[in-house]
Formats: sequence, C-alpha cells, structure tokens
Amino acid sequence: MRSAWLSELLLLGGLLLAALLLAAVFGYFGWFMFAALIGFSGRHLFQLYRLERWLRVGRVRNPPESWGIWGDVFEHYYRLQRRYYKRKKRLARVIREFRESTAAMPDGTLVLNSEFRIVWFNDAARDSLRLSSSRDLGQPVCNLLRSPRFKTYLAAREFDQPVIVPSPVDDSCSLAVRLIAYGADQYLLLIRDVTRMQRLQTMRRDFVANASHELRSPLTVLSGYLEALADEQELGQHWQEPLADMLAQCQRMNTLVNDLLELSRLETEESDASTEDEVDVPSLLDRIVRNARAEDGDRHVISLEISSGAGLKGNDSELHSAFSNLVVNAIRYTSAGGEIKISWLARPGGELAFEVSDTGIGIDEKHIPFITQRFYRVNSSHSRSKGGTGLGLAIVKHVLQRHNGRLEVESIPGEGSIFRCVFPPQRAFYSAELPGDSSILAQ
Ligand code: ADP
Repeated sequence: MRSAWLSELLLLGGLLLAALLLAAVFGYFGWFMFAALIGFSGRHLFQLYRLERWLRVGRVRNPPESWGIWGDVFEHYYRLQRRYYKRKKRLARVIREFRESTAAMPDGTLVLNSEFRIVWFNDAARDSLRLSSSRDLGQPVCNLLRSPRFKTYLAAREFDQPVIVPSPVDDSCSLAVRLIAYGADQYLLLIRDVTRMQRLQTMRRDFVANASHELRSPLTVLSGYLEALADEQELGQHWQEPLADMLAQCQRMNTLVNDLLELSRLETEESDASTEDEVDVPSLLDRIVRNARAEDGDRHVISLEISSGAGLKGNDSELHSAFSNLVVNAIRYTSAGGEIKISWLARPGGELAFEVSDTGIGIDEKHIPFITQRFYRVNSSHSRSKGGTGLGLAIVKHVLQRHNGRLEVESIPGEGSIFRCVFPPQRAFYSAELPGDSSILAQ
C-alpha cells in the first residue's frame, strides 16, 4: 500500500484508539468516537477548502503544504498543471513562429476557414490586395477575388494547380492563386505576383504566332514556284528529284507553321462556352477515319468501333484536330500491315473515351511523361522522316485541357500503344437521334 494511504489509515486508527482510551478512562464512548470521526472529516474538509482556494486562483503557483493523501493530491495536480502550461507555452511559441515566418514570406498568405472566409493574412497579402484587418477579416474570399475563374476553381475543389487571376487592385497585374487544404477544413491561400512571367509568356506566344504567320506567305510562294517548275517539261530529268525534295521540305515547313499557329491559338485564346457546340462524335470519327483510310491507301487495317452514341459538348474543330492527330500518329508509328483500332466508348461512372490503339513501334515507359511536350520526340529522325512536327501531342494536350479531359497512354515497345482521351460525364450529351449505347462497327 502507498505510504500516503498508510499514513491516512494510521491517522484514523490513532484517532479511534485515542477515543477508545479516553472512553475507557472517562466513559462517554459514543461522544469520544464521534469527536474522533469529526476530527478526521474536519481535516479532509479543510484540505478540500485549501484545494478549492488554490484552484480558484488559476495560476501556476506552489501548492499548499500538506501530508498524507492530500499531499499527494496537491503534488499530482501541481505536476499536471505545469505540464499543461508548458504545452500551452510551446503551442503559443509554434503559432507565433508560424505567423512570423508566414509574415516574412514574400508571397501573400491567407488562412481561410471551411466557408472560405478570411481568418488571418500576412503583410504581403495585406500589401498586394490592400487588405485591412477591421474590414476584411471574416469576409468570404470571393468578395475579394471576384474573377469567375477563381469561383470555378473554388467550386471544382481541385487545388493541385494554381489558377491565374487578375489582381483585384490592378487589372494589368496577374496573380497565381493556390489553395492548400490542411487540418479540419482549413485552407491556406497562397498568392504570387506572376505579372512578369505572364508578360514574358505572352511575348513568347505572340512572337511564335507572328513569326509563323509571316512565314506562311513566302512558303506559299515558294511551293507555287516549285510546283510550276516540277511541271516544266523543258527541265532536265536530273532536276526532278531535287524539285520533289524541295517540295516535300516546303510541305513539311507548311505543316510545322500550321501546327505552331494552332498551338499558339490554343494557348492564347480563352476557352469560351459560346464557341462550344454539341459535337456529334460518332460522325466526326467517321469523317476522320474515312480521311485516314484515303491517305493511308490500305497500308494498314484501320477499324472504327462506336459503342456509345453520346456526343460531346465542345469545339468541333479542336476535337477534330486532337482526334486526327492521334490517328495520324498511330499510322505514322505503325509499319505497313499493322492494325489500328479507333473506338468511342462509355466508361463506368459516365466518362466517355476516345481510344486509338495500334500495333506499332510502341514507346519506352521512361519517355511517356514527356511526349506531350512541344518538340519532344522519342526518335527525332524517325519522326521527321515520317513528316512529324513534334507538336501533335502538345496540341492534343491543350485541346483536352480545354475540354476538361485527360490523356492516358499505355504502351509496350515493339508491341504497340493505346492513346485514350477521357472526358468527364458533364461533357456528354445524348441527342434523340443518337442511340444511347449502341454498338456500331465500321470496318
Ligand atoms: P510527332 O509529330 O513527332 O509525331 P507528336 O507530338 O505527335 O510529334 O508525338 C511525340 C512523340 O511521341 C513522337 O515523336 C513519337 O516518338 C511518340 N509517339 C506519338 N504517338 C506514337 C505512337 N502511336 N506510337 C509510338 N510512338 C508515338
């Protein structure tokens, strides 16, 4: 038994013994026993009173001196209290350090609650957004950043990437805004001024677009003269080969310029709901496949399987460009006699997928993350010799981004590849004339 309890029992025993002895000498057994018990409980009441008075003060200060079980109670409580205050101090220090470090950050930082209301912000946010504690704390952040793009970003709740919005205090400045979720439904909103970077990107895009545009006319003139020369009977036979070569190079440059122009248009133009239509994908694919077969001239077996009658809400010419780029690639990187399967299908969860699978050269796994970058080619000379510009998949990626889609690539070197464009259910539409889920096979 613990010594505190032992001394408590000894005290009780001692009091009862004293009462017994006194009763033996003076009689009044009951009264002496009563007095002993009153003395014992009186001690406890008094210690309780001291404990209550000590706790009432609420500060950490030395506990009242006592012995027996009360000495232990005071001691334990005192230790708990000290531990609690130490932890509180440590947390307060962590919070202070966090605030000091975020206050020193050059990027604007705001803490938002679960309803996206402003709870706290640092000096950089105060300066860049002209915030005031008295006015803006507790306000919904949407009142501050009113761009529709930011509202869509919040509603979509996909915060992996930042969104670029105009600064609410100066339209000519751009801010990259990113939300980071933490704790229980709390958010950090990071704001970075990307005006300079945006201007440089715009300059680069404009330069590429202008240069491509300027190259178009001389190329048309050159091709025209070369075609005329090739038809010229008086030129000797030895000119035919160099002329054909020059024409092919002109053609290649033309394709490159067209791809560059298309890419820069996709990069610069905002995707706009007003230019979007209900695209009848089955007939779009039918057109693409007919063109591909005509150009391929039976070198490959090209099949089309339409197993969903759904169409897509989107831009017809952009989707045409993306889908035909994938079909052209499949033909380009599959040797004669190979098979190319094109399908349009519904996936579980309502997603729609356009898929091109081929039995071509395939792509080594290590290249797959990079093939949608501009001018990235697994084998440059092979791509060039087949008329590739290195821009096809970059165009596909941009078109998919503008249609909230994603590109999936599966490939085994030497066996073939599958390129899949996946679209979310919100992009699907079902017209009365189109069968909901049919299986139309065109060979
Ligand atoms: P390119 O004009 O060179 O085909 P793309 O951007 O369309 O450029 O494709 C990038 C690279 O990805 C290609 O150079 C090629 O190496 C690889 N690639 C694309 N599609 C296929 C495919 N179906 N099979 C094998 N490799 C492919």
